[in-house]
Amino acid sequence: MRQRPDRGEVATYIPELARVDPQAFGLVVIDADGSVAAGGDSDVAFSIQSISKVFTLTLALGMVGDRLWRRVGREPSGSPFNSIVQLERERGIPRNPFINAGAIAVTDVILSGHQPREALGEILRFMQFVADDPSIAIDERVAASEQRTGFRNSALANYMKSFGVIENPVDFTLGVYFHHCAIAMTCRQLAKAGRFLAHSGRNPATGHFVVQPERARRINAVMLTCGHYDGSGEFAYRVGLPGKSGVGGGILAIAPGKASIAVWSPGLDEAGNSHLGRIALEALTKRMGWSIFGV
Ligand code: GLU
Repeated sequence: MRQRPDRGEVATYIPELARVDPQAFGLVVIDADGSVAAGGDSDVAFSIQSISKVFTLTLALGMVGDRLWRRVGREPSGSPFNSIVQLERERGIPRNPFINAGAIAVTDVILSGHQPREALGEILRFMQFVADDPSIAIDERVAASEQRTGFRNSALANYMKSFGVIENPVDFTLGVYFHHCAIAMTCRQLAKAGRFLAHSGRNPATGHFVVQPERARRINAVMLTCGHYDGSGEFAYRVGLPGKSGVGGGILAIAPGKASIAVWSPGLDEAGNSHLGRIALEALTKRMGWSIFGV
């Protein structure tokens, strides 16, 4: 897989992502027994970017429960990840928690009642808890670059603020958002972090219920329908698993009851999803018969 020439384009909107080796490729599968299959650059940390939104969604649901759905929808957007058009028509309520506007609204929910530093600490500790790895950290250089160039995210946040959808000062919410997108993880850490979603809310490694089974099922549903922006239909069609991509080139995919899978290849397709990552997942699910839609 790593020899394939068709790799898409590495994200260039910040220098830290533009500098990443386009040849990098890592894949980790952890099955229900905890057996790990790892290949390529599976222990190289990369910027998880929007994959963090799965974990902020989980955390925010834990804090406010279904009230979260008053602030953000759960329908696919059919628009690019940073699109602003739909917000006007729907009075500042983002379509889903995975497009940038929706993830910023979710971050705002986590921030309410806290200082930005506390909220960020909460998100990072949650990430370390679900991955059972206290070494996971934020890449501060990526966060600073995101902050310097995040004009469109700032527009989205200000626009939502005008509808009262953002409660906190916009700069505080964006600061926390940029930092959680800048968490760096390896495929191995990410696959570990996804295990609770593959096993009805319980991490088999620790025995802890992270969320109730019903919530895990619902988070998987949102990943399936919205996890790849306007490439979500294509991902369901080809891979057939709940998944969440990030512009760093990572994808977390969940085979319910079977496995948690993380793949990383920095080149992106037109929708901003890892090109080779998707191809690798398609080959894997086909081979294993893991698509939720049948073999
Ligand atoms: N930090 C990126 C942004 O907000 C995340 C985008 C992504 O990973 O899709 O633009």
